[in-house]
Amino acid sequence: MSKQPATDLIHHPYVPPPGFAAPQPGVFKDSTVIFPDVATLRARDWRHKSGYTYGLHGTPTTFELEERIATLEGGRHCLLVPSGLAAIAHVNLSLLRSGDEVLLPDNVYGPSKAMAEGELAQWGITHRRYDPLDPADLERKLSERTRLVWLEAPGSVTMEFPPLAQLAQLCRRRGIATALDNTWGAGLAFNGFDLGTGSQVTPDSGADIVMQALTKYPSGGGDVLMGSVVTRDDRLHEQLKLTHMRLGWGIGANDAELVLRSLPSLVARYRAQDASARALAHWLQAQPQVAQVLHPAFPGSPGHEHWRALCGDDGLAAGLFSIVLHERHAPQQVDAFCDALKLFRLGYSWGGPVSLVVPYDIASMRLAGSWPHKGTLVRLSVGLEETATLQADLARALRVLG
Ligand SMILES: *Cc1c(COP(=O)(O)O)cnc(C)c1O
Repeated sequence: MSKQPATDLIHHPYVPPPGFAAPQPGVFKDSTVIFPDVATLRARDWRHKSGYTYGLHGTPTTFELEERIATLEGGRHCLLVPSGLAAIAHVNLSLLRSGDEVLLPDNVYGPSKAMAEGELAQWGITHRRYDPLDPADLERKLSERTRLVWLEAPGSVTMEFPPLAQLAQLCRRRGIATALDNTWGAGLAFNGFDLGTGSQVTPDSGADIVMQALTKYPSGGGDVLMGSVVTRDDRLHEQLKLTHMRLGWGIGANDAELVLRSLPSLVARYRAQDASARALAHWLQAQPQVAQVLHPAFPGSPGHEHWRALCGDDGLAAGLFSIVLHERHAPQQVDAFCDALKLFRLGYSWGGPVSLVVPYDIASMRLAGSWPHKGTLVRLSVGLEETATLQADLARALRVLG
């Protein structure tokens, strides 16, 4: 043992040989970064990923994950934040000033609406909700004060798929920034930066900012919270990056490692969950207790034609869909149906291995008159279990409804 173990164990002279290579990137856990000399300390700029200054500004592990997510989304720059909701907050905080207005789709991710009603309102930023299936409604609501328009496809509970290219183009023509919540598409079903379809393809037909809750498919385990904010434009990225630095968002190296570990299986998992969900949705469509299946890839589901135009005839979809139960089944009976499920567990989120179910009272969440169904909606997130056993679980629970 050394003579000064406290010092020797901290300032150990050993340096491992360079050149270690393995399929997975290394995991660097740091707040402090060591500089070789004062001149280097003064010269390093954290902004352009040319070097390391402090753990909050990036490590090889977070840089690696940022680059992979930027590639996944078809963008050039990526910022990581501690959750999907933090990514939404980040975009709002960076782009909006007091006196501005932000527009949200009426079926927007619920906590995003709560942020607009709470913090944004407190800071003098107003918001309005538009019908995501009606570009004319969005156009009517755009004003001098509109600084940002959120897009989401589909609504993650009611599953309407909007005409994204048209919505984005309306904003672009007026110089209004668009931000797309691409959690459902996961960067796989379509490219958020290139939304043009058929004859409408133009080089600039996409959203300006594409965010994703990496919590869902990229994590894939139901055990990580993380969000990403991806851009193509250098100046917009610089603005978002400065806000990122000033707000002090950081993500842990262990979380980054988990997402890096899951990314190689992302495509396989997304495809498997898509196929399983569609098989179950088809079966549910034929059950007498089910009034309607809401799944963007199903003809008759709202906005199906927009999904088909953007994602293609053989396009992909997330393993997520909703069913509206027949109105003769009271909400309490629908709760009993959800309680009777054994493999579909009661819980929020999606994209993980475990199938999940949540009943929703949609009418209370929407602008008056915009929800046409009378029956209760149940959202199903299909995990990675055997499709046949999931179907048997649903069949048994449906018997509770008679
Ligand atoms: C889950 C989700 C979010 C938020 O992600 P968290 O990491 O849970 O904060 C945002 N948008 C959509 C569409 C989501 O499904």
